[in-house]
Amino acid sequence: MLGIQVFNSPNKYVFFKDECVEFNYRWLTEELGIDPEEITFIEDVWAGGGNLGPSIEYFVNGLELGNMVFMQYKTFHDGSREELPIKIIDTGIGLERVPWLINGSATSYMDVFANALGFLTQKLELDINNEIWEKFGPYSCQLNIDEVDNIDQTWEKISKEINVEVQTVKNAIAPVKDLYIVLDHTRTVFMIVYDGSLPSNVGGGSNVRNILRRVFAILHKNKWFEKLGVDGIFELFKFHTKDLKDIYGDFNIHPNMKEVIQLEYDKWLSTDKEQKDKLDKLIKKKGNLSIDDWIIAMQSWGIPADRISELSKIPIPGNLYYEISQRAERVVKATEQILYDTTHLPETEALYYQDSHESEFKAKIIEVFVNLEEGKFKNTHNIVILDQSLYYPTSGGQSNDTGVLRIGDEVYNVINVERVGKCNLHILDRPLVEEPRSYIGKEVSGTIDLKRRFQLMSHHTGTHIVFAAARRVLGPHVWQNGAKKTEDMAHLDITHYKGLTFEEEEAIEREANRIIMSGLNISKYFLDKAEAEKKFGFTLYQGGVVPGNNLRIVQIENTDVEACCGTHHDRTSEVGWIKMIKSQRISDGIVRLYYVGVRILNFIFLVCKSIR
Ligand SMILES: [Zn+2]
Repeated sequence: MLGIQVFNSPNKYVFFKDECVEFNYRWLTEELGIDPEEITFIEDVWAGGGNLGPSIEYFVNGLELGNMVFMQYKTFHDGSREELPIKIIDTGIGLERVPWLINGSATSYMDVFANALGFLTQKLELDINNEIWEKFGPYSCQLNIDEVDNIDQTWEKISKEINVEVQTVKNAIAPVKDLYIVLDHTRTVFMIVYDGSLPSNVGGGSNVRNILRRVFAILHKNKWFEKLGVDGIFELFKFHTKDLKDIYGDFNIHPNMKEVIQLEYDKWLSTDKEQKDKLDKLIKKKGNLSIDDWIIAMQSWGIPADRISELSKIPIPGNLYYEISQRAERVVKATEQILYDTTHLPETEALYYQDSHESEFKAKIIEVFVNLEEGKFKNTHNIVILDQSLYYPTSGGQSNDTGVLRIGDEVYNVINVERVGKCNLHILDRPLVEEPRSYIGKEVSGTIDLKRRFQLMSHHTGTHIVFAAARRVLGPHVWQNGAKKTEDMAHLDITHYKGLTFEEEEAIEREANRIIMSGLNISKYFLDKAEAEKKFGFTLYQGGVVPGNNLRIVQIENTDVEACCGTHHDRTSEVGWIKMIKSQRISDGIVRLYYVGVRILNFIFLVCKSIR
């Protein structure tokens, strides 16, 4: 779908309803050359999320092509409303419907998947009966399972209307419908895997797995798998890239994608038997399957609905997908509780970004907090906020700095530093001795533990290096999934579809050390978000999406570019040496690499000492 949003603020009017309708009308008639007589605009009221306004849908010969929503009012529980200061237009246009409409094909799939469809029909030796599709097409919307009471009666009615025997229609439609599902689902899997996700049993990866399993189930049901195989699915990806080329440009399909599909297929075959036994047992016990049983079998056991239907010989309930979406909406995420309010304070100036090798600084106390966390400091004043600080707070998987703060004649150890809102909270090893408010405005001097900082920087810079090395050794499908850098050790989680061999671990370690020994320059600078994304692409966000419109870029010369807020060395050689400890498959599709960054001389001294 194409989406266009327009924001009209009180001091900047862009355009609203009248102009928006006119622009869409002119696009339809002048650009697409559609006869005005064939166009219908229908106005209705749209309400959602506490907003209200007109909405206009437009149709060409009955086919909805787009809609425009105009958020004009804010609504209240008592039914009253007031004008919104910022009026918003949200337009959606069916991208795949446009070529369908212009070409007048029997289905949109014929235009959108032209190359992939050609390959698949030839490979599977299928003949699409376009004559029946063209007759059936205009009535197909009547089979929307959310809206019909009796699906069999509706089929009968359609069959009478088009004057073709019910079974003949069904026989012509069923395999083609499955073919279209295969096209749609394989394209989805291809795009998701290309973008860096892998099938797994958790999070978004489980969607990839379920979609792929539905493809396997449909291929098996129709006895198509023998003709296509994993090689054929991989080949189909290449035809998808041809169909997408005009929108996305060229793709470089990585050969690893074939291995991903093969492993998933093998896994599906081996779990299929297990799943079948579970399902048999359930059907035997219950006689039939309730909606809850369907949902458990799909979501907890990972069996696609088509496969459940095939194994149980029970048709898919008409309200199944509606029920699943309803239940998903009911799951509300609990909001994280924030203990300290820093909204009234200015942002802590981050001195650690100016020179990451500096250890001494001066600052002013701007706020003192009472400790609210459970423990021995609860209800004491041992938290200070400074106008500027060299102390890096725990964030982005990197542990905080420690050190001392000198306040007047007293010396306090800084045992923890946390980031809350825009401020860094310095947690001291004992409560402040005098009346808390008397500290506001006082000058302090601080010294951070530079040895610890250096080790943390080595581990953090090492994360970028090990990641770049893993991507070079294993392939471009590798994304960072998480990382932790403490003083003693670091680990990096990467996406990969199987465990690593010893040889692969060794190759990553060798490549990482080659990068270190090359002494590559590491530049750190701020860049406008839009510009950064345009220049480097979304691979910037290895450590997750960074909020704000200004990104801190960490760039290792010809090796790695990421948006990152941690502390890093200035050259890769400062890391010294990376020693890989081990790798571990921590969940489906995620491999954790444990490593230490060490000063190579220290290590050699230790080894020499042990063999003397
Ligand atoms: Zn970093």
